[in-house]
Amino acid sequence: MSKGYCLGIESTADDFGVGVVSFKGEILANINDSYVPEKGGIHPREAARHHADVAGKVITEALKRSKIEPKDLTLIAFSQGPGLGPCLRTGATAARSLASYLNLPLVGVNHCVAHIEIGKLTTGALDPLTLYVSGGNTIVSAYESGRYRIFGETLDIAVGNCLDAFVRESDIKFERGKPLGRIVEELAAKGKNYIPLPYTVKGIDLSFSGLLTAAVSLLKEKKYDVEDVCFSFQETAFSMLTEVTERALAHTEKKEVLLTGGVAANTRLQTMLRIMSEEHGARFSVVPKGYSADNGVMIAWTGVLSYLHGMKVPIEKSFVKTKWRLDEVEVPWVEKRDIS
Ligand code: AMP
Ligand code: MG
Repeated sequence: MSKGYCLGIESTADDFGVGVVSFKGEILANINDSYVPEKGGIHPREAARHHADVAGKVITEALKRSKIEPKDLTLIAFSQGPGLGPCLRTGATAARSLASYLNLPLVGVNHCVAHIEIGKLTTGALDPLTLYVSGGNTIVSAYESGRYRIFGETLDIAVGNCLDAFVRESDIKFERGKPLGRIVEELAAKGKNYIPLPYTVKGIDLSFSGLLTAAVSLLKEKKYDVEDVCFSFQETAFSMLTEVTERALAHTEKKEVLLTGGVAANTRLQTMLRIMSEEHGARFSVVPKGYSADNGVMIAWTGVLSYLHGMKVPIEKSFVKTKWRLDEVEVPWVEKRDIS
């Protein structure tokens, strides 16, 4: 593999992240600055304004941390989609400016592919069935014939969004900046009694909006402890995720299961998937915490893989793709590895 360094920019939603990696997959820097809404969910234009405000600082910090000079960089990668338009465009503008100023090639990366590739890089998984769970996505996928195929996905909201909206719509107190899913996890650990909630699985697809509505109304009724509602909410949502992952595993007969995305930080979800994977004789791995939520490292690394397979994009054609699906992307580097 040739020598080089890639700087990657992530900006699909609330996070503005910059990572620097070598072509060998060494991680030299991982700097992130998140937009935290005053109230409610992510406001795309406000998040984009945040990204524009912090971009210079985060890029400078990442270069400083990586101990390399801008002239040592070989390419610039950016999250081209899917995501929120204004946020994507801000990251893309920063990436285009850097590429043009430093006269470097630009690579547009699919954010979902990047979550899978960082999981593989950091855990050593080669050909896993992947459960990718985050604020914006819930996807069960595996590699087949040149692409990561989608075997199942959410039919409405993502599980991370479901957890976040549940906290925001109830009276649960939270520390600004702490992931809302983590707050549910901490409360759920103290719950004991299971209260039945809507469990919606259709084949390998899932739906979370009924669960969200029911869990919020349970809390509003004030008949149950918040810990028990959080416990029941997690048990229901994560059992659904484990069921669909198991179904896809039986279908694909993969020998590895990988958990990635921001919700992968949840230890209860990890436990459920580990037990299920082991029952099928599959190796279970989970992306380390620093790389589970959105980050620039995963974009930089996927940028390297793409670039080494001739994939780059001229600046004038580097439009963002807000609805770019995982299974639209060719991933030629996977076939080249020995995954038998
Ligand atoms: P991402 O979209 O990949 O940046 O991930 C952000 C999502 O991960 C948000 O929905 C968070 O609430 C969620 N998250 C972070 N930590 C945890 C946790 N410990 N348990 C459940 N969800 C989490
Ligand atoms: Mg995020």
